Amino acid sequence: MGKEKAITKTLWQHTETLPEETMEFLNGIAADYAKVKACTYERYSGIGSLGKLSSIYDIMTEMRHCGLREQLGLPSVYYELAVRDGISDIKGTWGMVKNKVRALITANEQLSGDDRMYLRTVLKLDQAYAAILNRKSYPMPEKAAGLPIDTVHLNNLLCRLTRRHLAQPAPGKADSFSVSPGGYSYKDNALYLVSRTPRRRVMLPLRDNKTSARQIRVCLKKDHAVIAIPAEAKKQTHKDFQNTIYVHLGYQAMCTLSSGNVYGQELGARTAAKSVRLLEKNRERIKLQAKYRESLASGDREKAEKIQANNLGFQKYRRWKDKEQARIESYVNAQLNRMLEEEKPGKIVITKPVTVNKTKLKYKSANRKIAESPQGYVRRRLALKCQVNGIELVEIQSKGTGNICSNCGAEGKRLAEGFVCECCGFKSSIALNGARNIEKKYNGGFIQAWG
Ligand SMILES: [Zn+2]
Repeated sequence: MGKEKAITKTLWQHTETLPEETMEFLNGIAADYAKVKACTYERYSGIGSLGKLSSIYDIMTEMRHCGLREQLGLPSVYYELAVRDGISDIKGTWGMVKNKVRALITANEQLSGDDRMYLRTVLKLDQAYAAILNRKSYPMPEKAAGLPIDTVHLNNLLCRLTRRHLAQPAPGKADSFSVSPGGYSYKDNALYLVSRTPRRRVMLPLRDNKTSARQIRVCLKKDHAVIAIPAEAKKQTHKDFQNTIYVHLGYQAMCTLSSGNVYGQELGARTAAKSVRLLEKNRERIKLQAKYRESLASGDREKAEKIQANNLGFQKYRRWKDKEQARIESYVNAQLNRMLEEEKPGKIVITKPVTVNKTKLKYKSANRKIAESPQGYVRRRLALKCQVNGIELVEIQSKGTGNICSNCGAEGKRLAEGFVCECCGFKSSIALNGARNIEKKYNGGFIQAWG
């Protein structure tokens, strides 16, 4: 039952450098926007409000009449979206709490199968869940009716687990806000935003002539703004895209095809070079911090202030990091585009990502590594490009595609120099063997090997 999903992407539009008073106006709106969100968290992220979240209408009415908007003097075109943003953050937090509780229920060995069935059912029904958390009566969900369970005990457990893991969403930085279409207009290559004064709009000159008729987001930089415009990606179908390709996604070579063609050969090298450069930059930054402490200790205020004005080198480092990331991303995109152009696939077969452990890894460093690895980005971009170009993307289980010989089906060895099969003597890169196995597995070869 596939729901037709609209493909939306974000277009970024830069304003010209803005005068100080315009930046002041924008920062003021962003600050109030953040206050409204924080107030929404305060009011509706508790257990008592879970039942209200399904219908945003009541919350909007309450927030419209609570006096906060008038107190801040924030125009409705910003205020209402701030409330909506706040509510969707709260819903996100509830989603995380439910996942956490679900995992704990699964891990709890003292629960019977029926106990778990009951708890999982309740977690899916917000009204029942809300009633239990607030110690109110509720009709037994149909699915759980007649189960031999101790609901009092289970409800207590559910309350305890929820209370332990529910938190307010963390307040975000006050550096952006959304505007509904009624709150802006365009004229002569400039965006005009509703101001706090009736019938007066604030002009933001733009660097290009993109326009939007939907909700936009204004993101504030130091001396200019960047506007996020949602756009429908046009779905194209290519009559000549008929081939099926089998692709191994790797850390070193980005895409290795079973035909032997490789796209993004340099991904690993580029990622490694980026890490080395960032390490160096970070070392510079740490040195700068040491110098700062030194100059403070030795009483060289002027020098210390100079370093501090530079935010202890942190801003520079972050800019650097963003730039490096953008470089890798543009490489990934260019190579994926080249693959689609040259291979003309109607279908692409890859393996599902291997999840180490469905929850977050224990160590911060491991999480950081995952966050920084371009693998997730490659998969996301490939999925989007397939969607936009009408290409079918098939993900098969990876089991067996790594260590089986794609030539004879025996178990081989993955060595530093590549894949080696001692049974038939086949040798290739690990990636190519993987891609050939994806092709074999998808087409039903070596069935016994896939387990
Ligand atoms: Zn072999």
